[in-house]
Amino acid sequence: MPDEPRLLVLGAHPDDAEFHAGGLATIYRSLGRPVKLVSVTDGAAGHHWRPPEELIGLRRREAAAAGAVIGATSETWDFPDGRLEPTLEVRQRIIREIRQFQPQLVLTHRTCDYHPDHRAVGQCVQDASYMVTVPHVVSDVAALRKDPVVAYLPDLFTRPAPLRADIVIDIAQQMESIAGMLACHRSQLFEWLAYEEDILDTVPDGEAEKLDWVHRWFANKIRPRAQRYREELAGRYGKQRGGLMEFIEMFEISEYARQPDGETRRQLFPNMLDG
Ligand SMILES: [Zn+2]
Repeated sequence: MPDEPRLLVLGAHPDDAEFHAGGLATIYRSLGRPVKLVSVTDGAAGHHWRPPEELIGLRRREAAAAGAVIGATSETWDFPDGRLEPTLEVRQRIIREIRQFQPQLVLTHRTCDYHPDHRAVGQCVQDASYMVTVPHVVSDVAALRKDPVVAYLPDLFTRPAPLRADIVIDIAQQMESIAGMLACHRSQLFEWLAYEEDILDTVPDGEAEKLDWVHRWFANKIRPRAQRYREELAGRYGKQRGGLMEFIEMFEISEYARQPDGETRRQLFPNMLDG
């Protein structure tokens, strides 16, 4: 691969990229690689009392601050949060984005996921994966000669099939960076998500305490990933390493886009664990 790998994360909401791929994004930036975090929707639905028109600007600023923590570009598009559908318009916007940013790796949601917006983005990326190479489709932006590798973000859904962990990375070293990014999404972590989980009374006042709180919240959220894949991890990486691994990101390579060989996988996932 001649070019320095570029990472594009296409999430549905302004905090999805950080939550699901903050570890890999941090690793890319630490290697000086360009990273772009996109929220396809405007985030206007993510609150219990702030009005949607306020949220749009607020969440755009929060996402920009989160991206800045690792020096990634952050972009929040204006499709409606909570009402996203896998339309031709969204697909074309994604084709345009992939052609312009020219990532070697695109990460997105699977099409089986609890959230309709996530499913819609996953569907649109799947539908765009090959089309990015077809010149007569979105003909105002030059088509790519090679489509990028597309991989699915970590999730624990099981129907119709659990995510196949083609790639596993240990993100213990990146937990602080991820917590720092997530803590920028203040309207979410300290307000909306805390409200939804009925833990508003546990959010501390001080800034340092808040950061610790996010760190613990996120660790609790993602610990089940390694637990779910424990047997596989121990089998692949040995009881010592795989058996004790606590925080991971695992990705499934999409079969609808470029299929990476072993060397390409190691370039795209620089600290992936070799089985
Ligand atoms: Zn989301």
